[in-house]
Amino acid sequence: MKHLIDPFDLSKEEIDEIVALGEDIVAHRDRYSGACKGKKLATLFYEPSTRTRLSFTSAMMELGGNVIGFSDARNTSVSKGETIEDTTRVISCFADIIAMRHPIEGAPLNATRVSTIPVINAGDGSHAHPTQTLTDLLTIKRELGRLDNFTIGFCGDLKFGRTVHSLIKALSRYENVKVVLIAPEELELPAYMKYEVCDRYGIDYKEVDNMESVMGELDVLYMTRVQKERFLDEAEFERVKDSFVLDKAKMSLAKDSMVVLHPLPRVNEILKEVDDDPRAAYFRQVENGKFVRMALIVKLLEWAKQDPSVHWMVPSDAIRSGYSCPNRKCISNVENVDPLFRMDDDGVCHCIYCESKARSL
Ligand code: ASP
Repeated sequence: MKHLIDPFDLSKEEIDEIVALGEDIVAHRDRYSGACKGKKLATLFYEPSTRTRLSFTSAMMELGGNVIGFSDARNTSVSKGETIEDTTRVISCFADIIAMRHPIEGAPLNATRVSTIPVINAGDGSHAHPTQTLTDLLTIKRELGRLDNFTIGFCGDLKFGRTVHSLIKALSRYENVKVVLIAPEELELPAYMKYEVCDRYGIDYKEVDNMESVMGELDVLYMTRVQKERFLDEAEFERVKDSFVLDKAKMSLAKDSMVVLHPLPRVNEILKEVDDDPRAAYFRQVENGKFVRMALIVKLLEWAKQDPSVHWMVPSDAIRSGYSCPNRKCISNVENVDPLFRMDDDGVCHCIYCESKARSL
């Protein structure tokens, strides 16, 4: 059985298959209205969400399936101290597929340890958000007509922005995608992303501290919100919160064919005056999220039917001792789970749940 916890769980072929199915659903919606008849999706949302939860819900409804779940874990046994593992075992008895969002990094991965149904990571802390990535890819495909040979600028909070991390990972599978990182020093892309993803997969990237100098180069501009809820220090948030704002003046420096994406919600990093610009694709992107989640649910259920055996998604050669994870928001420091690590090609050890650089004991 396949789960989707990280974009790297999907091969390029599998991503292309899901995106192509998403496009087919756009073209022939009525053909899919009974594709999940009799199936149940459980949406387990431990953290606020508008688009992701409702697009999963409407995706399953459009497929003819049903949805159970919660959007506020305080109303569930979690408030009595139930672990992710126990909740997942329970839900596996009721549903056919799970979409889980959690503020703790690695929580959905830990759920795959015991789940007997496919688990989809709907966002874990600052770590990953693979279904937003599929949304972004379908949008780029529909807007640009291709998923290779383009330049994308990521602007804003590249440190805590999980959608950025996941999209860069997925783009590393495609040819000749150039990445421009536009962020203040405090919000720059985490080291593991630069060295383990960009360098390792040969992504051509550069870092700049202003938008104006690069606007004319971009085919896609991916704006992000400064992730207030992830800051440990409020003063630091106040200092960086308005670092980059997209307005009409900056749009006038961009190509006529450039596309502006944003995973939303926006706060004030894109002025409303940009919304009517035909290059502003962020509301079209929202609808693509529903189509691609329909495609993902269909595919994961199909793959689970072909191979129903349960897979705990951790490599058998994972390191089990000698290290600890320094990330306070990692599941290995929050619940009673076995800490697990892996060594990268440069001999640096990383936590398997959140990918932080591990501390040697
Ligand atoms: N909706 C996206 C996420 O859940 C982006 C954001 O919240 O800024 O990560």
